[in-house]
Amino acid sequence: MRLSDRVNRVTPSMTLAISAKAKAMQADGLDVCSFSAGEPDFDTPDHIKAAAKQALDQGKTRYGPAAGEPALRAAIAHKLRTENQLNYGPENIIVTNGGKHSLYDLMMVLLNAGDEVIIPAPYWVSYPEMVKLADGVPVIVETTAATGYKITPDQLAQAITPRTRLFVLNSPSNPTGMVYSPEEIRALAQVVEAHDLLVVSDEIYEKILYGPTTHLSIGAVSEASFERTVISSGFAKAFAMTGWRIGYLAGPVALIKAMNTLQSHSTSNVCTFAQYGAIAALEGPQDCVETMRQAFEQRRRVIVDRINAMPGLACVEPEGAFYVFANISATGLSSLDFCNTLLEEKHVATIPGVAFGAEGNIRVSYATDLDTIERGMDRLEAFVKTRL
Ligand code: PLP
Repeated sequence: MRLSDRVNRVTPSMTLAISAKAKAMQADGLDVCSFSAGEPDFDTPDHIKAAAKQALDQGKTRYGPAAGEPALRAAIAHKLRTENQLNYGPENIIVTNGGKHSLYDLMMVLLNAGDEVIIPAPYWVSYPEMVKLADGVPVIVETTAATGYKITPDQLAQAITPRTRLFVLNSPSNPTGMVYSPEEIRALAQVVEAHDLLVVSDEIYEKILYGPTTHLSIGAVSEASFERTVISSGFAKAFAMTGWRIGYLAGPVALIKAMNTLQSHSTSNVCTFAQYGAIAALEGPQDCVETMRQAFEQRRRVIVDRINAMPGLACVEPEGAFYVFANISATGLSSLDFCNTLLEEKHVATIPGVAFGAEGNIRVSYATDLDTIERGMDRLEAFVKTRL
């Protein structure tokens, strides 16, 4: 079959592939400890499910506006104004099939062939591939554990060229769990303003924060950075709604209109009754979010302490999201060999750092129960011992 150059340029998602392999091994009856998925292990809270069921019963089963149900766009705008100090109205919001889709749409409407997009590494697997799908050029800026895997203002400034169209900022980060402090965000905002750069701020993990860590949206720093920022987010992580496929993008009306045109010829509206669940997620009680966050915090403590106690492994303590990024370079194995052998020999699934543009590391998701974490860490420790 002759396929398009566009799709041939793209690498399939390694996180989805390894999660699928781990699931297939489980289906074969093997006891797999999976730390691969970027998915909360909790069920969607009941009041959110009830709102979607009620919408079904009320006949919210038809096509709706491509940009989303007006009530959901209004609820998202309200959330961004009150929680994030971002002055958006409903006309600045488009509802998408997940945060992944909002970013994909953004690249499609923004980039011309050869346009550059600055992406700090380690990065979420899909950013560079989406840029390539839109004929753009990912410009990867490597960061290190020494700067907490965060891009510095100097690095950002140096990466800008006349072809730069967009800077992708992700805090809290997948895969490192690092969070840019308000001071760091303000320093990056200065570069964004000085170079008249457009930034997409992927804030999908904003509610999963630990200790004294706080989240500041770069768009809230000043009017000048607000004008240069678009926000991408979704309901999957904070509300355990991964399978619902609801995300959103907030930005200038002209951009939202362009995305609406794209959606009107590709996906049409996001599942109508699911959007009523999302309204309940935003407007209903928020204690479910806090309960899940506390569970993640407890697991983080266990997993970070276990990994840092293992000879040959080390990780920086994550401040948000539900991932640990562990350095495996002392084993001398490539991250792909490490993850494949660990899965085959010990039935422990993790994701190789190479998928995130950071060889020498693995990503361990702790969106799983404490028993699996303890058993999986025992196996990981035994595995690493044999490789030192
Ligand atoms: N952005 C980041 C950083 C993510 O980790 C993910 C999911 O893993 C997404 C966006 C997209 O999430 P979804 O499409 O499920 O809303």
